[in-house]
Amino acid sequence: MSRASGPGRDAAPGVVYLVGTGPGDPDLLTVKALRLIGQAEVVLYDNLVSREIMALVPGTAERVYVGKQRARHTVRQEAINTLLVLHARRGKRVLRLKAGDPFVFGRGGEEIETLSAQGVPFEVVPGITAALGVAAYAGIPLTHRDYAQSCVFVTGNLRDGSIDLDWEALARPRQTVVIYMGFANLPALCGALVAHGMSPSMPAAIVQQGTTPGQKVVTGTLADLAERATAAGLAPPTLIIVGDVVRLRGRLSWFEPGGDAQPPAEALRSTA
Ligand code: SAH
Repeated sequence: MSRASGPGRDAAPGVVYLVGTGPGDPDLLTVKALRLIGQAEVVLYDNLVSREIMALVPGTAERVYVGKQRARHTVRQEAINTLLVLHARRGKRVLRLKAGDPFVFGRGGEEIETLSAQGVPFEVVPGITAALGVAAYAGIPLTHRDYAQSCVFVTGNLRDGSIDLDWEALARPRQTVVIYMGFANLPALCGALVAHGMSPSMPAAIVQQGTTPGQKVVTGTLADLAERATAAGLAPPTLIIVGDVVRLRGRLSWFEPGGDAQPPAEALRSTA
């Protein structure tokens, strides 16, 4: 598929690809994401898109950093939406790179609403969301016949510091709870789950920079996870996983950050 680009009498309209880049390990990009990155003319990216993935962007592409600060989200988001439209109107193939999946806590919906309203063509390319990538690399299956029949993803970035999650629903038995953006509120989140009926001895894990050489996993219980995370000196981005499935990590952990975690090509071929 190729599309004319650049200015000209009948310049093709630009196009925006909203691309999920997965949780960090560049090997977790989809084939489509990798192809589009190689063809990009303008790339808008933020903090969580890993350096290794940015290294795949062609040297000829314009790179626009649109990292966000937590406090001034709304204004910044509008500016990003506008930038996407402006670059596409220049006839460019624009890539909006988003960590994980664009439609999971990624504001992807808001960005393409603007494109749609302005008549700019766009495509959405799904990515591996942090919950899936991080759980896999931490050796924690999100569901398991013996431990969890359901799994919920929530944001721990609580509006105005107030806790407005549906705690009763989260505290249900045989369910795994995955909390994005919860680092700053870890003690409050663990406390609220216990206050709404979860056992203080419920296993829980917090994973920093999952799937990357910087991955660190701290496990504990709802009663002591926050303390352990502080003692280990963890820093965002982190993902919190709460549920009995965390017990499985002891047996299923396989990823050694910094080591050669990839199976050799021969191993892949022999199982094909
Ligand atoms: N759209 C993204 C989520 C963006 S919100 C996705 O689908 O994954 C940002 C939050 O994602 C972070 O605060 C953190 O909770 C989580 N996250 C993203 N990448 C991560 C990683 N490599 N390790 C741990 N948490 C990660």
